[in-house]
Amino acid sequence: MSAARLKRIVIAGGGTAGWMAAAALARTLGKSIELTLIESDAIGTIGVGESTIPPLVAYNRLLGINEADFMRATQATFKLGILFDDWKEKGSRYFHSFGTTGQDHWSAGFQHFWLYGRDRGHQQPYDDYCLELVAALQGKFAHLPEDRMNYAYQLDSGLYAKFLRSMAEADGTRRVEGRIATVELDGETGNIASLTLDTGANIQGDLFLDCTGFRALLIEQHLHAGFDDWTHWLPCDSAIAIQTASIGPPVPYTRAMAHDAGWQWRIPLQHRVGNGLVYCSRYLDHDTALERLLGNIEGETLVQPNKLRFTSGVRRRQWHRNCIAVGLSGGFMEPLESTSIHLIQRAVLRLIRMLPLSEISERDVAEFNDQQHADMLQIRDFLVLHYKATERSDSPFWRYCRDMAVPDTLTQKIELFRETGRVFRKNEELFAENSWVQVMMGQGIMPRAWHPIAEKLSDEELARLLATVRDNVARTASGLPTHGTYVARYCGASSARAA
Ligand SMILES: Cc1cc2nc3c(=O)[nH]c(=O)nc-3n(C[C@H](O)[C@H](O)[C@H](O)COP(=O)(O)OP(=O)(O)OC[C@H]3O[C@@H](n4cnc5c(N)ncnc54)[C@H](O)[C@@H]3O)c2cc1C
Repeated sequence: MSAARLKRIVIAGGGTAGWMAAAALARTLGKSIELTLIESDAIGTIGVGESTIPPLVAYNRLLGINEADFMRATQATFKLGILFDDWKEKGSRYFHSFGTTGQDHWSAGFQHFWLYGRDRGHQQPYDDYCLELVAALQGKFAHLPEDRMNYAYQLDSGLYAKFLRSMAEADGTRRVEGRIATVELDGETGNIASLTLDTGANIQGDLFLDCTGFRALLIEQHLHAGFDDWTHWLPCDSAIAIQTASIGPPVPYTRAMAHDAGWQWRIPLQHRVGNGLVYCSRYLDHDTALERLLGNIEGETLVQPNKLRFTSGVRRRQWHRNCIAVGLSGGFMEPLESTSIHLIQRAVLRLIRMLPLSEISERDVAEFNDQQHADMLQIRDFLVLHYKATERSDSPFWRYCRDMAVPDTLTQKIELFRETGRVFRKNEELFAENSWVQVMMGQGIMPRAWHPIAEKLSDEELARLLATVRDNVARTASGLPTHGTYVARYCGASSARAA
């Protein structure tokens, strides 16, 4: 006789993680599960998390979300990448775009042809060969046939949770308001049996998703899943966030401006701009950080500053017993490349793929934990790269970053690129070759060699290849509408500003 069906899924927490999970589970599994989400208005959500990366487009499509409706509801803009200021050295600037650069050969990425071209006297910047990058810096955007424009969104996190909530509730999710006061464990199995709220309500379940944010109320406070602290590689541990009024049409990119103990973000939405100063509290105190942030924002401030503390690192077991950490409860690696919402998405889709029929298989648990961990290690290395590969030595913070020991996996990636120009994407690694190349070159790591295939081209063929790609990019970008105009027309919310 088979064991009882696993039917009752309880989500603890209603931030971006909780509602992303609820919306996806409810839409995908419908009435085959009973889904309950508990959230506490009194506790509230973290209130940040507004810059995303392209896989969110696919997530929305998977859930059948109409893009224009979603963007209107969340006051979203398009994002083509991140503009990095002052990272390599003060006064330097580079762009990490979501596009592909140039044309690859199956044996070698475009950077090999560009590097050989540079050696042959072609001095045009690598940036000129990427449509998303050129369009972003010109403030242009449009959807292109065959998804030739690769993009993500910049959105209002509060409105996003609200949007997902209405979707999840329409698909049958039961929302329960209240603070989880106690967590009851099954004396025999050690699994979570139920959650009791301060209202007295008792919510029982078969599977629990811990979406309680940094509190990690279930997975850590009760199940003690363990945490690996990565602060020695990602030393920023504090942030102050503030929203300002827009002073012009939104640009289709997020800004990451380095300062002497961290960096500052600027995320333009339709109705306002999100700003924040990320810093390392060992090198900068809160009052100075706030003063610095207020001195480098544009437009009138709309809210009181929101002070946040975090520890970069990862929950050792993301799935432990009958509990799965989704969102900040599973770990956080600072917001530099906007990977956190993406990790929520990965965890949710992974869980749906591995959803048990009845009893939880330890094989599933091990597989889930392995895959989640691999994602996080790869993202960690990519983030650490931005700090390690710097020529800045103007402050104790940057000297620490420049001199710190980094994971061997990152050293291998950097030195391989420096020696050969090669980057290999491992398994389902989030950041592809183009991302690594742009950031490594942007941070000042230039390859000493290129693949010999590039030299198969005659001087004329090489010149033609480079000119053709560059001209196509320039022509396509010049024909695009401005981002502000496109957003207003496609998904303009009431207070959107056009160019
Ligand atoms: C400074 C900073 C900037 C960031 N920027 C980005 C970004 O640009 N892009 C990106 O992808 N990510 C970003 N993130 C991460 C992003 O904010 C989160 O991944 C995302 O908001 C998900 O948070 P969450 O839902 O896990 O947690 P939270 O938003 O904290 O939600 C926790 C939920 O649990 C509930 N809860 C907690 N305890 C209890 C209890 N006892 N009883 C009942 N309910 C409870 C709360 O009420 C809330 O509903 C940033 C994070 C930080 C710190």
